[in-house]
Amino acid sequence: MDKARKLLIAGNWKMNKTVAEALDLVRGLQIEVGLVKEVDIVICPPFTALSEVSKAVLDSKSIRLGAQDLSQHNFGAYTGEVCAGMLKEFSVRYVVLGHSERRQFQKETDALINAKAKTALAASLKPIICVGETLAEREANITEKIVDTQVTGCLAGLTKEQMDEVVIAYEPVWAIGTGKTATSAQAQEVHAFIRQRVAALFDETVAKRARILYGGSVKPSNTRELMSQPDVDGALVGGASLEIRSFSDIVKNSI
Ligand code: PEP
Repeated sequence: MDKARKLLIAGNWKMNKTVAEALDLVRGLQIEVGLVKEVDIVICPPFTALSEVSKAVLDSKSIRLGAQDLSQHNFGAYTGEVCAGMLKEFSVRYVVLGHSERRQFQKETDALINAKAKTALAASLKPIICVGETLAEREANITEKIVDTQVTGCLAGLTKEQMDEVVIAYEPVWAIGTGKTATSAQAQEVHAFIRQRVAALFDETVAKRARILYGGSVKPSNTRELMSQPDVDGALVGGASLEIRSFSDIVKNSI
C-alpha cells in the first residue's frame, strides 16, 4: 500500500498473557512478520512480560516494544506505578496513553494524559495517545466536539518537534472489543478531522507527518479497507493481537 506516512500496526495485549504465553506469541510473530520492512510493528505486552519479550525482540528487524501506560512521575512513593526509566531498561520505544479503558476504569483525564505524554517524550518514548467518542456521544452528534477536546487537551504544550514522536490513535469506544468496526468512511472522516485539528494547533507540516491509527475491532478481514483510507496510518489492535495468525495477517494485509 503506497501511503504518505509509514503505517504502524500496534498490538495492545491488555491484561493478557503470562510470560510463557507472551514468549510463544512473540516467537510466532518473529517467524511470520519478523522481516517486514514496509510497516512498523509494535507489540505492547503487560509490564510483567516486558523483560522476557524485550530479550526475544532484541535483534528483531521489525518488531518494536511498547508499554500500555506509564506514570507521569519519574520515581518515588507511587505504589503500583511504573515510570519511564523502568520501561527504558527493557528497550521500550512506545507507550500507549489514555486508552479508553484507563479513561473509564482509572478515571484518567486529558490533563493527566498530557502530563504522561510530556514525561514519555522527555524520556524519548513515543506516546500513542488514544482518543475517541462513546456510542452515546456519537448518537448525540458530538463526536467532533469530544475528539477535539481530547486532542487539544492531550497535546497541550507539546512542541512541533515533539509532535514528530507522537502517534494518535482514534478508537471509537463503541467499536472496542465489540466486534463493531467503524466503517472505513466513518474512520476516514474522524481521522481527517483530527489531522485538521493538529494543523490548527501546530501547523500543516506537523499535521502531514502525524501518524493517526485506527482502533476498534480491527481484524484481518477489514484491515485492507481501513488502511486504504488516506488519513488512516495504521491500526491499534486489541483482541486480534493476541494470536499469531490474526495479528500477522493484519500486518500482511496492511502492506
Ligand atoms: C483496543 O483496545 O485498543 C482495541 C482496539 O481493542 P479491539 O481491537 O479488541 O477492539
